Amino acid sequence: MKNNLNNNDTIQIAGAGPAGLAAAITLARAGREVVVHEAHDEVGHRFQRDFQGLENWSSSTDALSALENIGLEINFTAQPFTGGTAYDAWDKPYTIHSDTALFYLIERGPGPNSLDTGLLKQAQSLGVEVRFNSRLKQLKGIGILAAGPKVPDAIAVGYHFETDMPDGYWVICDDKLAPKGYAYLLVMAGQGTVKTCMFSGFKQEKIYVEKTIQAFERLVGLQMKNPIPHGGAGNFRIPDSAYNGIHPLVGEQAGFQDTLWGFGIRLALTSGILAAQSLLNGDNYDTLWKQQLRPQMQTAVVNRAFYSLLGNRGYRWFLKHITTKADVRQALYKAYHPSRFKNWLLPWATARYVSRRKDVSCDHVDCHCVWCRHCAHAV
Ligand SMILES: Cc1cc2nc3c(=O)[nH]c(=O)nc-3n(C[C@H](O)[C@H](O)[C@H](O)COP(=O)(O)OP(=O)(O)OC[C@H]3O[C@@H](n4cnc5c(N)ncnc54)[C@H](O)[C@@H]3O)c2cc1C
Repeated sequence: MKNNLNNNDTIQIAGAGPAGLAAAITLARAGREVVVHEAHDEVGHRFQRDFQGLENWSSSTDALSALENIGLEINFTAQPFTGGTAYDAWDKPYTIHSDTALFYLIERGPGPNSLDTGLLKQAQSLGVEVRFNSRLKQLKGIGILAAGPKVPDAIAVGYHFETDMPDGYWVICDDKLAPKGYAYLLVMAGQGTVKTCMFSGFKQEKIYVEKTIQAFERLVGLQMKNPIPHGGAGNFRIPDSAYNGIHPLVGEQAGFQDTLWGFGIRLALTSGILAAQSLLNGDNYDTLWKQQLRPQMQTAVVNRAFYSLLGNRGYRWFLKHITTKADVRQALYKAYHPSRFKNWLLPWATARYVSRRKDVSCDHVDCHCVWCRHCAHAV
């Protein structure tokens, strides 16, 4: 699909998340007039001060250098983490080691050092107008849709808190805490995030959160001061086309996500940039994301199909296997890249993994899971 962008057209973007702001930065740098509409009164509203991992295994180039290479500045806090600990359902620890950063811990939300604020500053310094409290119902003219997840395929729920614990990260793979997912604890500079990331069982969310807290207290002495409940949803889908009429869909509004574990930030940023380039150069956006993003997303679907078959004994095997590698980053790089075998398994995995649109255990009746509480009303 070709667009007919004139140099004087104002480009409208719906959503000031990473995908929308990356698109805005790229367009403004090319001299275009851009207005970003943000439904809330601040950036990163749905995340507040969530800690997230900017994964460093999907490219051999370091993640921060890769962002600089696509035209983004690193004007937000990004702390590299190399070592951590994972636990299986029998409390056995596995040491995770990588020679270089496995991921960068970043803050999301409206805080001064967050990714969202950093991107907002970059966009505004290039002349982008960001209109807060402006929820777009319809996009008229040339523009990009970047409004985040539309349906929940997974949810991550827990707390943000203050703590005296040292910096670090800890993960538990146990279906009793995080069905088909994983529980995680991230601590940086006296602040922490603890979450259960679940791909099923949404309706029992509270029970899983309680069990997750108990497990981290038992295993690593989790201490939370002033805990604030927080949660959110993720949408994973590989569309046939990421256009809505003439408008490119980017980030999670398109369903672009890491179906295996939900590391969607880099996909959001890259898809925003590709959509902007398609408007600037008249290229077909579907061609661009299918070349640059689809192979990795398809591999993630195969990985998810395997992972969801594993169960607790399988996670134990996986943790043992992955942590015997000298460098976990290298092992994950391999796991996240297509191979002949994974390509061959793709039809099977695609048939197994259908974006659930809603968790079957959550019928939206008398349900207080994070999707029913917030997200269905927020998008
Ligand atoms: C709890 C949780 C933890 C996560 N952890 C990680 C992690 O560790 N690593 C990782 O890589 N990924 C993680 N993710 C996923 C990652 O946060 C997302 O993939 C990423 O934020 C998607 O970016 P986006 O720009 O597409 O959408 P969003 O970040 O959701 O931004 C969309 C924006 O659009 C606005 N909006 C919505 N509707 C409208 C409208 N009609 N008009 C105007 N504005 C609108 C919203 O208010 C929002 O600001 C996590 C997700 C959750 C929920």
